[in-house]
Amino acid sequence: MMDRFQKQRWRMVETQIQARGVTNPRILEAMSKIQRHLFVEEALADQAYNDNPLPIGELQTISQPYMVALMTDALELKGRERVLEIGTGSGYQTALLAELAEQVFSIERVASLANNARRILDHLGYYNVAIRVGDGTYGWKEEAPFDAILVTAGAPGIPQPLVEQLAVGGRLVVPVGGRSVQDLLKITRQSEDVQDLKKEHLGGCRFVDLIGEYGWSG
Ligand code: SAM
Repeated sequence: MMDRFQKQRWRMVETQIQARGVTNPRILEAMSKIQRHLFVEEALADQAYNDNPLPIGELQTISQPYMVALMTDALELKGRERVLEIGTGSGYQTALLAELAEQVFSIERVASLANNARRILDHLGYYNVAIRVGDGTYGWKEEAPFDAILVTAGAPGIPQPLVEQLAVGGRLVVPVGGRSVQDLLKITRQSEDVQDLKKEHLGGCRFVDLIGEYGWSG
């Protein structure tokens, strides 16, 4: 939909995403379309397409657009996948996943954020998204296995339940490291054996804490 931010969206995609090497046309198209300014409070709408994260309340953030694109690219979505997201936050990343996959399951530990995200995703017509409030480090066992799992908060280690809920061939993208900086990891499950994992390092990143049983203690 054309709106007063359309030019800013195109510029964001060109200068922040494409210019840094994410060229997947499905991602570029979806990010040109999704109205990111609707996922932040009105006072921050003019900053929504800037090259940085923004506060969304509850000491949490909507991630930098490039980081959203990079992580999504690593999930290799073709359109038919079932995706699990840990850390719904504003719901912006969730909307992108909903554009690119068949079904999205998203878990957020802060109820007010989950409620806000639900409201805006419903408003925009993303009916292929299920949101649950809780500790996402346990995963969503009843809906497993997942073709792709994305963790949008920094973890001290790879949460084991998420590896177990990955389909064979599935990809898990998770920032792992200390509380201030992490390494973005892409884990590909190669067989039924949960130990049989391919690990790739996608670069350094800075995320808020993943808090929970298989994350930080709060
Ligand atoms: N991708 C989101 C966006 O674009 O708005 C940003 C997510 S924000 C960086 C990380 C989110 O993870 C926060 O909303 C935080 O409350 C949530 N979170 C932290 N630990 C969690 C857990 N164990 N389970 C579910 N959500 C968690």
